[in-house]
Amino acid sequence: MVDLSLDLGQPHSHLVHVSLRCTPATPVLRLRLPAWTPGSYLIRDYVRHLEALEIRQGTQSLRPSRSDPAGWRLELPSLEPIEIRYKVLAADLSVRTCHLDGDHGFLALAALALQVEGERWSSHRLSLRLPAGWQAFVPLPLQADGSWLAVDFDQLVDTPVEAGPHREHRFSVAGVPHRWVCWDATAPADVAPDSLLKAHPTLLQDVAAVCQACCRLMGEPAPAAAPAYLFVLHLLDQGYGGLEHDSSTVLQFGRQALLKPEGYRQLLQLVAHEYLHQWNVRRLRPAALCPIDYDKPVIVPGLWFAEGVTSYFDQLLPHLAGLSSEEDVLHDFGSDLSRFLLSPGRLAGQSLRQSAQEAWVKLYRREANSDDNQISYYLKGAILALVLDLELRRSGSCLAQVLRDLWARLGRWGRGYREQDLLEAFCARSPGLAERFPAWLDGFEDPDLPAYLQDVGLMLEPQLAPSPHVGLTASLQGGTLEVVRVVRGGPSQEAGLVVGDELIALEGLRLRKLEDLAPLLQAGQRQAITISRRGRLRTLAITASAPAVERWRLLEDPAAAPEALERRRQWLALVPC
Ligand SMILES: [Zn+2]
Repeated sequence: MVDLSLDLGQPHSHLVHVSLRCTPATPVLRLRLPAWTPGSYLIRDYVRHLEALEIRQGTQSLRPSRSDPAGWRLELPSLEPIEIRYKVLAADLSVRTCHLDGDHGFLALAALALQVEGERWSSHRLSLRLPAGWQAFVPLPLQADGSWLAVDFDQLVDTPVEAGPHREHRFSVAGVPHRWVCWDATAPADVAPDSLLKAHPTLLQDVAAVCQACCRLMGEPAPAAAPAYLFVLHLLDQGYGGLEHDSSTVLQFGRQALLKPEGYRQLLQLVAHEYLHQWNVRRLRPAALCPIDYDKPVIVPGLWFAEGVTSYFDQLLPHLAGLSSEEDVLHDFGSDLSRFLLSPGRLAGQSLRQSAQEAWVKLYRREANSDDNQISYYLKGAILALVLDLELRRSGSCLAQVLRDLWARLGRWGRGYREQDLLEAFCARSPGLAERFPAWLDGFEDPDLPAYLQDVGLMLEPQLAPSPHVGLTASLQGGTLEVVRVVRGGPSQEAGLVVGDELIALEGLRLRKLEDLAPLLQAGQRQAITISRRGRLRTLAITASAPAVERWRLLEDPAAAPEALERRRQWLALVPC
């Protein structure tokens, strides 16, 4: 048993005081802090926020040596119990880091809990000391003494801890108890606890309906995968994100987005996404994450399936729950298809498989040229999920059925899946996919989207930009216009502009604001643009080309046959054709 006590008693300091007690099994003690947290594929070096580590055994203070930046080693005088103390700076507000101040505390335990070598599979007891008036919301079994018990280090790290003067709401989905906790950072403390529910009185019912739709997707009758479930929502002024766990999720959402009609739908889609992850990725898990290596990046080829398929269904689930219209679904799929078709990175930068493999170094580390050299495995994965769903429907099956097959064969038993398992599951329902599936994963050619959409009576229509194409994005920074993106192969790149150039003048006239660039948008006319690069002025010639496609719209095909309309109805209801 490892005892982890966290003291949040001085919230204004942002410091969490940690005490970790255990009885060593070997004379050499090795400690490590995880470098990343599952679900967010980026090395975060959490150890940079750890300070003042000390180890005590009885009355002795022991000094460990550093084995590497995130690890310590110590030869112990005896096997008597030890206490490891340290502090962690909790000043980073995201769903995958720690944040503590006078309003609330949120702890991602991967960023906070040292792993004691040899104790990974031992149970870990978690205790908290909180400021007066706060309570903790922890998705672990509560013990009689007020502590929580995790069966092992993995379950501990999979436990997000939220604490504050918040209120908890309970509901049940398929007989499984669910809790909803919202920290509203945008409202004064006295009205915050229920402000979101006042603005959206049906929220809890709607969340429960989305959860029920998820359970239906995974098989009927099907309770949630977890024995209990906790939603934690951080409602901020702006923000968007979520992190999945076995029995909980942490969501971040912007109040400003909720003011728009589609904002509430996006919140329900986020709920659907993270909730579906309790099956797809947490339990039906890529083999590369069985078990999880917390110390270094792991190539996970199946990430496109974990995120793409989940992103695809998160748009359909609120509709299945009766909370969004067919028009809404087509609008949302249309936005995704448009973003995909306007992403140059899909044609030359990355295949879908490469996008998943390079998650650690590209998706979470975007730069000015990222649109040219990468394609998100969330976005392309969701487009491929749509294509696979429509392809499977030609064989009388559907994507939901394949997901349920994989769950029944592997996920339910905790067996990780390899790419071959995915291929077999798809081919069992649609043998024709044996050839196409690997080509879609490795290739740079788009699937035949118009043909697949025609199956369900839909069509894509390009919409041209109202003005000529320059291929340049600038932003006003500190009183100067700075180039922040140059489209690969576009007129600006041809002219020799690069990211970071200061735009000084156009045809000899000073550029001071974005609107001053308007004369540039004249097709076929060569213009002189003066820039400053590394402090030296130079003048380049730029010629805008004909307007480019600005957006793709997903429309109902007026000539669609009745059979196509019937297939669309079945597709949106998630039943096989
Ligand atoms: Zn996800």
